[in-house]
Amino acid sequence: MPLDPVPGLLSRATELLEAEFSALPSLAPAADTERMASVLEGVAHRLSDNYPYFHPLYAGQMLKPPHPLARAAYALAMKINPNNHARDGGRASSEMEIEAVRELAGMFGWSEYLGHLTSSGTLANLEALWVAGQAAGTRPGMRILASEQAHYTHHRISAVLKLPFSQVPADHRGRMRMDRLEAELKKGDVAAVVCTLGTTAIGAVDPLPQILALRERYGFRVHVDAAYGGYFKLIPDALDEPARSAYAAIAQADSIVIDPHKHGLQPYGCGCVLFRDPAEGRFYKHDSPYTYFTSKQLPPHANEPKSLAGGPVHLGEISLECSRAGAAAVALWATQQFLPLSPSGEFARGLAQGRAAALELDRRLRADARVQPLVAGHPELDIVVWKLQAESPDQSSQRARAIFDSCAAHDLHLALVQLPESWFAPADTGQNQVENTLVTCLRSVLMKPEHEAWLDRIWERYMAACAAPIGE
Ligand SMILES: *Cc1c(COP(=O)(O)O)cnc(C)c1O
Repeated sequence: MPLDPVPGLLSRATELLEAEFSALPSLAPAADTERMASVLEGVAHRLSDNYPYFHPLYAGQMLKPPHPLARAAYALAMKINPNNHARDGGRASSEMEIEAVRELAGMFGWSEYLGHLTSSGTLANLEALWVAGQAAGTRPGMRILASEQAHYTHHRISAVLKLPFSQVPADHRGRMRMDRLEAELKKGDVAAVVCTLGTTAIGAVDPLPQILALRERYGFRVHVDAAYGGYFKLIPDALDEPARSAYAAIAQADSIVIDPHKHGLQPYGCGCVLFRDPAEGRFYKHDSPYTYFTSKQLPPHANEPKSLAGGPVHLGEISLECSRAGAAAVALWATQQFLPLSPSGEFARGLAQGRAAALELDRRLRADARVQPLVAGHPELDIVVWKLQAESPDQSSQRARAIFDSCAAHDLHLALVQLPESWFAPADTGQNQVENTLVTCLRSVLMKPEHEAWLDRIWERYMAACAAPIGE
């Protein structure tokens, strides 16, 4: 797999872009290019100290290579280096951000909304919880709730925002427990519930329809953290119940976060936050004296989305961050032009291929007597976790680490994850499982479309690694 799969793609477009500015007096070429080249060679050498994230045999953490078009569009935009804080600094790229975000919102069924890109899912979640706190502003002490399997940053974000935070226990599938959620809601001090569609550890899907039903009774905001799993909205037929119903209900959330830099084929630096109510832009109101000088005089733009019409002129007016990479918006826009967010398109097919690979890996693991699979069902998305049969949790963890190392020696890269022992089928050793004992398990995120075609080769290497685990 070449690191530059489409040579020439960028240089042709760079010439075109250069020609657009040819009326300006030319600049002297950069000096000392030889020394730059030699430093860059050193960089190439340093970068070899990485796992091969771009290759299908990398099946460990959530790492998916950006699309070649996304990389080229990002690099092209960097020649201009626009800043999407304000139109002064990023004219075309602000428009492209508005258009790209409109397509993401449309995927979730929203045509009127407020939304923008962020530098990450964490920042996007911070904005969503900040708005939740602002909306509850008149009632101090109101809590944020999230499942114990929610992303660890929700706790930290809540601390930064000085919002009290509580964890709701998860069931054996890693989904938020509704009985425990309701017990918390009865206390009457909940501002917002974070519903994760696609947990980071195992891709579990919280029961959004039930959470929405509780919202009717208890009144609170529902924030959907779909940083990882958001794009699975495109392939409901490839999902099982209850995940399918959770995705079908997503438009009823108050806010949604999705990370194009996770499953959306984007370079890092691309998250997105969306609010169902465009009027929530009022919480961001500020007046920066130095950035909106020239662009106040710009004519209102023709293709302003409804949510911005008559509202902010600059994306910085509806974002907590100031400077943001215009290049990230350009890359996302270009990718969505080429691979539209349509259930029948190639992008959706790629998601379904990863999901098929996960189900097939799960099927093979379940047929292997050395494996203790999750007791309750199959992967909900494209993440597979499994525990290794052993006499004790400690020995099981040790075996997982040995196979992890041995796989790496066979160029197959998996991941390790700590999960409650009680989630897995009991071992044949007659030992009672202790609730809450954590055990180290193997984990594979099969998020590349190529993973389906590569599954046999992944399996061969896994089998070879199991036959001779390192350090056992
Ligand atoms: C990855 C992830 C985040 C954090 O997003 P970053 O882009 O890494 O900051 C939040 N929530 C979930 C569910 C995630 O998978």
